[in-house]
Amino acid sequence: MRFSEFNFRDEILEGIRASNYETATPIQEKVIPPILDGRDVIASAQTGTGKTAAFLLPVMNRLLENYIDGQVGALIIVPTRELAIQINQHIEGLSYFTNLSSMAIYGGNDAQNFVAEKKALQHGTDIIVCTPGRMIAHLNMSYVNMKKLQFLILDEADRMLDMGFQDDINKIIRALPAKRQNLLFSATMPRKIKELANKILHQPVEVNIAIAKPPDSITQKAYVVFEEQKLPLTLHLLQEHAFKNALIFCSRKATVKQLTKMLQQKKLSVAEIHSDLEQKDRENVLLKFASGRIPVLVATDILSRGIDIDTIDLVINYDVPGDGEDYVHRIGRTARAKADGTAITLIGEKEQNSFSAIEDLLGQKIEKAKPPSSLGDVPAYNPGKKRKGKRNQSKRKFHRQQPKKSFKK
Ligand code: AMP
Repeated sequence: MRFSEFNFRDEILEGIRASNYETATPIQEKVIPPILDGRDVIASAQTGTGKTAAFLLPVMNRLLENYIDGQVGALIIVPTRELAIQINQHIEGLSYFTNLSSMAIYGGNDAQNFVAEKKALQHGTDIIVCTPGRMIAHLNMSYVNMKKLQFLILDEADRMLDMGFQDDINKIIRALPAKRQNLLFSATMPRKIKELANKILHQPVEVNIAIAKPPDSITQKAYVVFEEQKLPLTLHLLQEHAFKNALIFCSRKATVKQLTKMLQQKKLSVAEIHSDLEQKDRENVLLKFASGRIPVLVATDILSRGIDIDTIDLVINYDVPGDGEDYVHRIGRTARAKADGTAITLIGEKEQNSFSAIEDLLGQKIEKAKPPSSLGDVPAYNPGKKRKGKRNQSKRKFHRQQPKKSFKK
């Protein structure tokens, strides 16, 4: 479906053209019309499906149709600073030919930003993208003016609930006018999301984009190894692949730090990113990575969603991610913008069952590549051993953040 068929205003169509979008993605086809019609929407869709533009374009179009100067028109609540910044960049691109203003409001930056955010909230920036905690900090100072708010958008709602933002979200909603259009996007639809939706949404249109299977443009491979073989194998893979940007995921912060150090000792230009870094350091690292100055980045799952850097052509899972969704999100960092990419997972001995569960979820067996002979003997891939029953696995999927609560990403 072409964007011209949606009846968008000219200045929105110009933004779409300038962003080089030719046809609408499936989620865009399904959610743009009801949003333009003023309906509430609940959509299950993952990053990489074009979901951000799916809500931004009709929301911007409607804000322009019913322009109210000096008011916050749309509030987008997201789980992380990175996502807030990225959505704001998206808005800046798509709204380039309009007079709409926007701002990302997120914690962890300096007092000067707080003042700028305060001004934006008081004087009515058209679209605010915020993380819950920071928004609460502003709300507590009682100068926030959202009396004429027209849109509330919750993005990655499942992740926000997993991160314990439910109370903050409720508090923010209490500060909004009752009459507004609500949009909720979530990668998964566990019961608690449905409950949240029942509270917030009015007769919503439900849109389901089936669990995103990784696109064919990503070549997926896995190596079955002993834990101590992961470092030499990673070094080998980095040498073997002619990549522009390689992103290596580890589930734990401690592993990220350790691996980064070990790769640096091998004289590789590597940086790390995790929740221990200050916001400005994280932004700095991402900038250096995106510009190619540092070609290899080791990260926790903090980067597995939403980050959109076109030049990432190699993703290495240093360990097997917690579940199928995390896997899809991690490897989805490559092959962006119609490019190809390679995703390689290192399966340690104790991770074979988890990887097999991911394969089941995807309905796909991932090729097990032959490790270089320099590694010596490797274990056989023999998952069925002491495998949990199906019930346990699906429970784990819906409570997927639970095991991670013991450490901060
Ligand atoms: P998202 O799922 O919102 O994270 O979007 C993933 C990527 O797809 C981003 O780089 C978007 O700019 C891009 N994108 C969104 N909509 C389209 C479209 N209709 N055609 C081409 N690329 C798109």
